[in-house]
Amino acid sequence: MIGHRGEDFKNLYRDIHPKLKTLFGTKQPVFLSTSSAWGVMEASIRNLVTKRVLCCMCGAFSDKWLDVAKRCGKEAEALQVEWGKHIDHKDVDLALASGKFDTVTLVHNETSTGVMNPLPEICCVLAKYPDVVLVVDTVSSCAGVRIDTDALGIDVILTGAQKALALPPGFSVFSVSEKAFARTEKISNRGFYFDFLEFKKQQGEWMTPSTPSIGHIFALQSKLDEIFEEGLKNRYERHARTNAIVHDWVRRAGFDFFAEEGFRSKTLTCVKNNKDIDVLEFARKLREKHRLVIDPGYGKIRGKTFRLSNMGDETESTVSHLLACLDDCIG
Ligand SMILES: *Cc1c(COP(=O)(O)O)cnc(C)c1O
Repeated sequence: MIGHRGEDFKNLYRDIHPKLKTLFGTKQPVFLSTSSAWGVMEASIRNLVTKRVLCCMCGAFSDKWLDVAKRCGKEAEALQVEWGKHIDHKDVDLALASGKFDTVTLVHNETSTGVMNPLPEICCVLAKYPDVVLVVDTVSSCAGVRIDTDALGIDVILTGAQKALALPPGFSVFSVSEKAFARTEKISNRGFYFDFLEFKKQQGEWMTPSTPSIGHIFALQSKLDEIFEEGLKNRYERHARTNAIVHDWVRRAGFDFFAEEGFRSKTLTCVKNNKDIDVLEFARKLREKHRLVIDPGYGKIRGKTFRLSNMGDETESTVSHLLACLDDCIG
């Protein structure tokens, strides 16, 4: 292990930083958080909300953000749509026109429902409201689809280690716009561990505010090398291809999609159990016979759906193998 205040660590951070900026599509500094994604999601609330936050809610992760904001003692309101539906930019516009909000939270890819929200359209609405900051969770989309943070005008982008980056859990990366930093400067009681300004100051010296999980950062370095060796464009195209293979299987097997058409994720598929199979038994059989794990549905849609991932390191070959095993277990 290396020390986190020495040259070796600084060189490690220096090496991965340009790659992280390219991945996010930003010129802003990228920070390393030794926490799961929720740490940064909560931090965004604490560092940004002075007036009231609008939480765009369409599934388990986005719904939870409202609860987290309230627990932080902030004024928060829901823009809730039914699970399986997307966030409509017109509804965001309508809510922001009230002038009540200074922050918006959005989950780009709702991992629980397989909905990918229309980020460009929503970002266009935000551009009309220069006093509002936009926080976007890209935990299961960043590195699977292109996201141009600066061009879109995203103020805080965050992603976790264990989804589309296919790293062990417990680590996150995020970036903050100048507009968001200006807001943070006006907020007191930000604490220390998740203070955006502390991250900014330390990043200037190629360090983190507290001792980071250096093992994760080495893993991230290795993963970024892989990502850029494959090439971002190739990586995104691979996700599009493997996603299409899963979609073909869903139709062929006679299932429906849980997410509405036009807003289906490119990194995972939430399959609607319209055939009323025993999903838990299906998942158990798959695990025992083929040693493959699928998720039998999140929270209130457990058993009514199941989810197939094509994110991270999955290839045509691994996804096709999974689908063949699904066919074997479904009979
Ligand atoms: C998994 C996930 C999270 C939460 O990640 P933790 O590692 O549990 O903090 C947040 N948002 C989305 C979209 C996720 O898929």
